[in-house]
Amino acid sequence: MIRQGAELLREGRDVSESADVCVIGSGCGGASLAAWLAEQGRSVVLVEQGGYYTKEDFDQREVNMLAKIDGGRGLHASEDVSVSLTYGNNVGGASVHYWADSYRTPPDRLLEWRDEFGIQGHSAEALAPHFAEIERDLNVFPATDAYANKMNVLVERGARALGWHVERVPQARKACRASGHCMQGCSYDAKQSQLVTYVPRALAAGALLYADLRAERFEFRGRRADTLVGRVLDRATGRPGGPVVRIQARAFVVSVGGYGTPDLLLRQGLKDSLPALGEHLFVNPCPMAHALFDEDIIQWRNIPAAWGIEEFRLARYQGARRVFGRPATSAYVEGGYLFMPNQLQPAMLAAVLPGFGRKHGELMRKLSKLGGTICWIDDVEPGRMRVDSGRRRIEIPLSGGNGERLRDAWKKQAELLFAVGAKQVLFGDAEDTRIESPSQIEAAVRQLSIRPDRNVLAAPHPSGGARMGSSARDSVVGYDHRVHGTDNLFVSDPSVFPSPPSVDPSLTILAFSRVAAGAVAAALP
Ligand SMILES: Cc1cc2nc3c(=O)[nH]c(=O)nc-3n(C[C@H](O)[C@H](O)[C@H](O)COP(=O)(O)OP(=O)(O)OC[C@H]3O[C@@H](n4cnc5c(N)ncnc54)[C@H](O)[C@@H]3O)c2cc1C
Repeated sequence: MIRQGAELLREGRDVSESADVCVIGSGCGGASLAAWLAEQGRSVVLVEQGGYYTKEDFDQREVNMLAKIDGGRGLHASEDVSVSLTYGNNVGGASVHYWADSYRTPPDRLLEWRDEFGIQGHSAEALAPHFAEIERDLNVFPATDAYANKMNVLVERGARALGWHVERVPQARKACRASGHCMQGCSYDAKQSQLVTYVPRALAAGALLYADLRAERFEFRGRRADTLVGRVLDRATGRPGGPVVRIQARAFVVSVGGYGTPDLLLRQGLKDSLPALGEHLFVNPCPMAHALFDEDIIQWRNIPAAWGIEEFRLARYQGARRVFGRPATSAYVEGGYLFMPNQLQPAMLAAVLPGFGRKHGELMRKLSKLGGTICWIDDVEPGRMRVDSGRRRIEIPLSGGNGERLRDAWKKQAELLFAVGAKQVLFGDAEDTRIESPSQIEAAVRQLSIRPDRNVLAAPHPSGGARMGSSARDSVVGYDHRVHGTDNLFVSDPSVFPSPPSVDPSLTILAFSRVAAGAVAAALP
């Protein structure tokens, strides 16, 4: 059953519920866990602050959909406005916006998490059966040629010409119509988001879903979270309305995403006992490069990424030195990012392309011939989140190892774009740096000013703000996803990762959620 805000506001009465498990957040981390526990016969209440929208609501109009389903209506940014924070605010969470790239966590990253961060119970062997099951549930397959739009074809061709390792990107799709509107919510239910996979499974197994309900406060009895207090939101304004919903449960699972979870936990006053809360925040900042070609590219058709370049996923350092989480200025050589074709629809392109007035208009008139690429930086300089006077503040450093990776990513993007015939490459920065030949790349990239307000960087993959570890001194949850110092409060989302997974995170979140579901079930009487 689904209860939505409009109905609760109309009734105007406070509500009380009780369940075995209350799961907060209906994205990859929450919906999947809710489904698995409900299917085991547990009573589950799933709480989601965003609205319940279905394919009929996804009208393929960018601006409408941004306002409806994007967190902060697509306008949230880091504290110094250098990075745009992209996340979901709807039943199904960010998976309703996502590109459906579905990578298993690379074994090298899981080893690093074990060896450098001591993570237990989340090895490649432990996660392998979960990955296999999730891939079946989400119909994951390597993108075939039919899904490669012109930009994808160029990325594959360029990578092969430059000798870079390029692979078909695993996709979570079924009967995809290749409309290109993945980020606005799939109008055909083809993209296998949580909205069409684990949320319906949870409901079919008897879970109760509250949409438009913001979790605000936990009431504790000693080490046990006893009740969650939530406020119904008015969808039109996003503001809390009248009714209060109180949910009592034996266990609570916080899955409100990489930006939401540290925020919600910080608001419970847990920072003093858990100093790592809100620290170690990673976001995979994404630098883009645009390019004008003689031919039509029409980047907004078909799926975003059928081919991905894996050559630079791991950073290379001089000698054998491996560095994580520490500035490696002298040792860094190149890499530390996943490299993809970019896909933006016209309105978003208008927002991110450089310049104003006539200059901007000239670019917009050539939009069909504009291609582009994007990289997810495997960031090594952690950011942090604070909640200050009720406002969330996020700091994301662009200096040190992050800056080196950003610069190298722009360099490699320009190299590839020229290799496949670009006539002009644009870095999209405030200075509107444009170059017309490969000989100009080195100098142009060296001069790029990587500072707040100068670049367009998106951040769709937050993680780490409630990281996993053995002690409350430097982590927030244990290896069983339980918040240190509590008996029944768990976290199931990328906030628990000790560092970014080095690939798009959804499958890692889902597999970790499987481990969390086991721990929650074991903690129930
Ligand atoms: C445009 C875009 C493209 C992406 N493409 C890919 C991709 O191709 N492959 C990939 O692997 N990943 C991709 N990602 C990232 C991926 O979608 C997310 O990492 C993943 O979906 C996050 O899942 P989650 O469960 O951690 O959080 P979310 O999906 O963010 O879910 C958290 C939910 O909690 C709700 N919430 C927040 N606060 C509260 C509160 N106080 N009370 C109640 N509810 C609350 C939110 O509304 C949200 O629905 C993309 C992301 C974006 C934005």
